Amino acid sequence: MSKIVIVGAGYAGMAAAAHLDKAGTPFTIVNNHDYHYLTTLLHEAAGGRGPGENYQVPIKEVLRQDSSQLVLDEITGIDREKKVVIGKAGQYEFDYLIYGMGWISEYFGIKGLKENSLSITNLDTAVQIREHIENEFKAYTTDGDKRHLRIALGGAGLTGIELMGELLEYLPELCKSLNIPFSEVDLQCIEAMPTILPMVAAHLRPYVIETLTQKGGKLRTNTKIMEVTPGVVHLDGGETVEAGTIVWTGGVRANPLLTDAGFNVDRRGRGKVNSFLQSADDDHIFIVGDSAWAEDENGKPFPPTAQMAEQMGALAAHNLISLLSGQPLKSFKPRNWGTLCSLGSDVGVGDAFGVPIKGVTAALAKEGSKAKYLWELGGMRLAGNRTKQMMRI
Ligand SMILES: Cc1cc2nc3c(=O)[nH]c(=O)nc-3n(C[C@H](O)[C@H](O)[C@H](O)COP(=O)(O)OP(=O)(O)OC[C@H]3O[C@@H](n4cnc5c(N)ncnc54)[C@H](O)[C@@H]3O)c2cc1C
Repeated sequence: MSKIVIVGAGYAGMAAAAHLDKAGTPFTIVNNHDYHYLTTLLHEAAGGRGPGENYQVPIKEVLRQDSSQLVLDEITGIDREKKVVIGKAGQYEFDYLIYGMGWISEYFGIKGLKENSLSITNLDTAVQIREHIENEFKAYTTDGDKRHLRIALGGAGLTGIELMGELLEYLPELCKSLNIPFSEVDLQCIEAMPTILPMVAAHLRPYVIETLTQKGGKLRTNTKIMEVTPGVVHLDGGETVEAGTIVWTGGVRANPLLTDAGFNVDRRGRGKVNSFLQSADDDHIFIVGDSAWAEDENGKPFPPTAQMAEQMGALAAHNLISLLSGQPLKSFKPRNWGTLCSLGSDVGVGDAFGVPIKGVTAALAKEGSKAKYLWELGGMRLAGNRTKQMMRI
């Protein structure tokens, strides 16, 4: 029997695993946690909307067949010649591999940025951001140094704006609990480009700026971060922002394991795949999610989003089963359900199936998308068990 290994239990890896599990096809999934976390909701965990546990789904709650095996390990390499995935705790031989190890932060070579900022890359780092801010605000009550109340967010894409929206809802509550006037807080989002949220329709952006500004945030565009030293963001033109909390949300690149293993990668470290999602270097390896360099029929790379990752994972599993049974493979032709950006829990912006939406409608659509995802992953049982803890309706 062919040995099938999936690495990474993100949106792509879990979709592949759920598909194989349902089909009763034996496989092993290796991940660094025994739970799948919802990356698209990490800003909620960082912004204090709910405890970290709210954004986890135990992997075994999704994979229920005896034929599915979960192994906890930190993957450190892939030996393509020997067909082995190497982890800290063991080695995993494969005949077929589905690689879905996601992304890491991209620092674009900005000096000191990686060393001197927090990032929202996984559930642990998201919770760390919330705890760091709480500790800074508590420190202010002891020494009165206003730098503790300054938060600098680098990047005004989806992650930076969603995080800002959450913080503007949470910080007034935190201030109240510590007896700090919220007017003393300085929350700024610093963006090098002239606009925010490039993935959202241009006519919706003024609504975002107005909403976040009214709540007390500052959005600074055309402002380039040149260097970060401990507690200080250095901007183009010589201005410095001294902040107790500095969070970088400005870019992502693929997990470097593919580059390290000698795969053919693009400038963001994503592994080249054919239309069936098989690696250009080895058709026994499927690369899915943010790690995949997959292109549409016009040669345009698919964006690194959860909805792409989910659809890639499911298709890779489908194609793998087809390969094993001698059936023809299907090309990746994803559906785009739209992009939604929350601005706190009560309003948002974005589009649903291409129709622009904003305000409460967008917030409700975003909440609904959580239930939709859980239902797709684990049916009514999972949606019923987990939706309540993740939704705020
Ligand atoms: C705050 C935020 C909001 C977002 N909002 C949206 C949104 O609204 N819509 C949207 O479509 N996309 C959104 N995205 C992007 C989306 O989350 C990613 O595109 C998606 O997570 C990619 O899925 P993936 O399966 O490729 O990787 P991931 O979800 O990152 O999963 C990778 C998995 O691999 C595991 N792993 C990593 N390294 C190792 C290792 N060395 N050993 C073992 N396991 C490892 C991780 O623990 C994780 O389980 C958002 C991202 C962020 C950060």
